[in-house]
Amino acid sequence: MKIGILAVQGAFIEHQKKLESLGAQCVEIRQKSDLERVSDGLVLPGGESTVQGKLLRELDMLGDLRSRIEGGLPVLATCAGLILLAKEISNDDHVYLGTLPVTVERNAYGRQLGSFRTVREMEYVGQVPMVFIRAPYIKTVGKDVEVLAEVDGRIVAVRYGKQYAMSFHPELNEDSKIHEMFLKECRREQQIF
Ligand code: GLN
Repeated sequence: MKIGILAVQGAFIEHQKKLESLGAQCVEIRQKSDLERVSDGLVLPGGESTVQGKLLRELDMLGDLRSRIEGGLPVLATCAGLILLAKEISNDDHVYLGTLPVTVERNAYGRQLGSFRTVREMEYVGQVPMVFIRAPYIKTVGKDVEVLAEVDGRIVAVRYGKQYAMSFHPELNEDSKIHEMFLKECRREQQIF
């Protein structure tokens, strides 16, 4: 099983370590041609969405990534990755991949002071630790988007087909349940659709 991890900027190593510890093979995606080696899934890590989006545009990768996702490649998107997927960003004019019908608000919990951790229930996985770092939150969801978790009345995780997106960082703690769920999706073992 080969999972691609977008590695142009941000917290990609942590995702890679976690997926490798669960037995997956990872491919770091730094340029367009790297995508050809990805067969089973894609991770869009946290970081800075403006920087990631600019690099993806310069590297001419947005179109290829979008068509792989629209073609059914499972995606795990965290924090900035969620912003890259979103169809609309309420406090920013950019749209990057636009494959996920949600509106997100960037830096919705303030700057560094807005960073926090908590433990909450998430659909399909149960209780998980959630680390928020200058996180976005999901303001509105479109048709067929399933809400997987909320924190204090704000949506923080969703699923749309095979796209899983969350405002927090599941790679920055010891818990592996979210990555396990994602690998099941990539192996097409999941029966939840
Ligand atoms: N604040 C970042 C952005 O807007 C996201 C932060 C993160 O990925 N931890 O892109």
